[in-house]
This record gives sequence, C-alpha cells and structure tokens, in this order.
Amino acid sequence: MYPPFEAEIHDENIYARGVSDNKGDLIARLQAISILQKNGGLPCRVKFLIEGEEEIGSPTLEKVLQKYAHLFHADASIWEWSQKNKEEKIEIIMGVKGMCYMQLECEGSDLDIHSQYGSVLDNPAWRLIQALSTMRTVDNQIVVEGFYDNIVQPSEELMQWSRDYPFDAKAAKEIFGLKRPLIVNEKEARDAFLFEPTMTVCGFESGYIGEGAKTILPKRSQAKLDCRLVPGQDPEDIFNKIRKHLDRHGFDDIHVRMLSTLMPFRSNINHPFTKKVIKTAKRVYGENNIALLPNFGGSGPMSLFGQYLGNEKPIVSIGCSWWDDRIHAPNESIRIADFKQAIHYMVELFLTFGKMDAI
Ligand SMILES: [Zn+2]
Repeated sequence: MYPPFEAEIHDENIYARGVSDNKGDLIARLQAISILQKNGGLPCRVKFLIEGEEEIGSPTLEKVLQKYAHLFHADASIWEWSQKNKEEKIEIIMGVKGMCYMQLECEGSDLDIHSQYGSVLDNPAWRLIQALSTMRTVDNQIVVEGFYDNIVQPSEELMQWSRDYPFDAKAAKEIFGLKRPLIVNEKEARDAFLFEPTMTVCGFESGYIGEGAKTILPKRSQAKLDCRLVPGQDPEDIFNKIRKHLDRHGFDDIHVRMLSTLMPFRSNINHPFTKKVIKTAKRVYGENNIALLPNFGGSGPMSLFGQYLGNEKPIVSIGCSWWDDRIHAPNESIRIADFKQAIHYMVELFLTFGKMDAI
C-alpha cells in the first residue's frame, strides 16, 4: 500500500491519493503554462477555477459563481478530467449526468423494541424497504411516475460517438470482482451507461447488524439514494416526483431530504472550439487514438459553468488518467507517460486557441 499523502514513483507510475481524479490534470495544466511562459509567453488568456468540493456535490460553487460572475467570462472552458480507455484511446468528454441525492428516513418508535411485538407493531426497516421497492422493479425499471418524462433523446450523431466507447463487461467483472451479472444485456451496456438515468441505493441502515443474533424491532431506518440524471431531467422535479410517488403509495410518513443536486449538461458538439480540441488531440495522440464521449457516466457541476459562461459556450473535459488508475480507491495512480502526454496536449491546445479568432 502506498502512502496517500505523498507522491511515490514506482514502475513509471505516480501513486498518491487524488492523483488521477484529479490533481494530475491540474498539475499538467500548470506545467504546460510554465513551459509556454519560458518559451515566449502564453498565446491566449487563461483563467483557472480550482474547486475542492466537487466530491461532495459542490455546495458552495454556485454562490461563488454568482458573486464573481464577471471574473469568469470566457470563450470556452476545459474541464477537469478524462482517461485513456482499455484500448488506449484518449477520451474527450462533452458533458455530465446530473444528480439528485436524497436521504430517506422512517421512524417507528423512541426505542428499539423486543421483537415479540413483531406481530403487532409496524417495523420501520420493512417499511422503508417496501417504500424503496415501489420505485424500482425487479427488472430494474424506475417506476416513479413521470421519472423518464422530458428526457432529451440523444441525436444520431451522439449515438454514433458512443460507439467509440467500449463498455467492456469482462473488464468490469475483473476490476470490480462482480458477483452478479450486469443488469442489462452486454450489447446495451454502453448506451445504458452513457444515456440512461439511474436510481441507486447507496446505503441502508437499520437495527442490529453486529455479531450474532439480537432480536429487536428497530426504532428507525434510513437510506441514501442517488439518481443520476440525463439531459431534460431536473433534480428538483425528480425530487418532487419521488415525494409524490411515496405519498400516492401510502408512504407519506417516510421523510425525504434532498442532500445535493446537480443539473445534467451536454455541450454543443459542433462548436468550432470543440472541433479544435478534437483535431489537436488527433495530432498529439494519433488519428485513431481518440474516443469521443457525449458525457461522463458520472456527475459534476458543469451546468453551473454552462449557465454562468453562457449556455452556448462549449465545455470539454480532457485529462491524463487511465482506465485502471483506481480512482476513489487505495493506491490511486497515473502513468508518467500519460502525464507527460497530457502536458504536451495542453501546450498544443493553448497554441491552437491562440491562433483562433474570437469564438
Ligand atoms: Zn472523483
């Protein structure tokens, strides 16, 4: 195990917590600027916004963007992260899924009760399980009324792009040590990953789960639930629909709190800026080593920037990671060769932007 808060170099990799997601990207960009400054200066104006709260849903970012909106005017934006996939193609990513993160709670009593009363008293663990199970079927369809309404179907061009994205079920089985089959057929996995919204029970807690048996009827239960959203869906609207669904199904006592929200976002893929980002990548990484992705499977506050930069302004995400970098896990790493290539790419991009007319 490598120490998380030191950077250790071993076998052509740098090991450190957050090095792939996403300190490496930031340093690669600073390095590129430093190289340009030592060689005649920056060819275009560059602004950085470095935020440390992305992993907890960026709770402060909007206030900062509101207050300092005038400082963030820009023609376009380069976002934080991307990776080389299993085929060693560098991903260029144009958007993110949105997020509606909720906490559900069910209270039954002031104290845990002897389970002999199970024939008489309601059980908050069962109740929350039953409430959750009204929202998603055993074949994984989300059945909250109106959940799929308003989804903007991806264009044929976006679908075409997604074909560059290999969702490798075999690799997923190996990396995650999967004990269960995928919930979609393998051919549909790629489109599902990119274009489908999700509803995930992230955690569930109730009663006694220590060693051995303890016969209690728990006093309360709670669950954390996240919904990843696609363009056309709005987290506030989804939250309201879930609240209404629970009420309609007789679960009006289940308390639901929204913990964080993010809007989904997808850039204009035909913008001249986007085209330059792709063209430059082909020059640096090789014509056939590019994978274009309409969006991440994950989320981030991209829509806020869309809003404050102006919605027609493109945002493109690029970076220096690799598919097996173990992000969010011990021994996170980047490959030094990828890091160097990302610096080179950033230098070339700045030079390219410097030659562009106002966009
Ligand atoms: Zn992360």
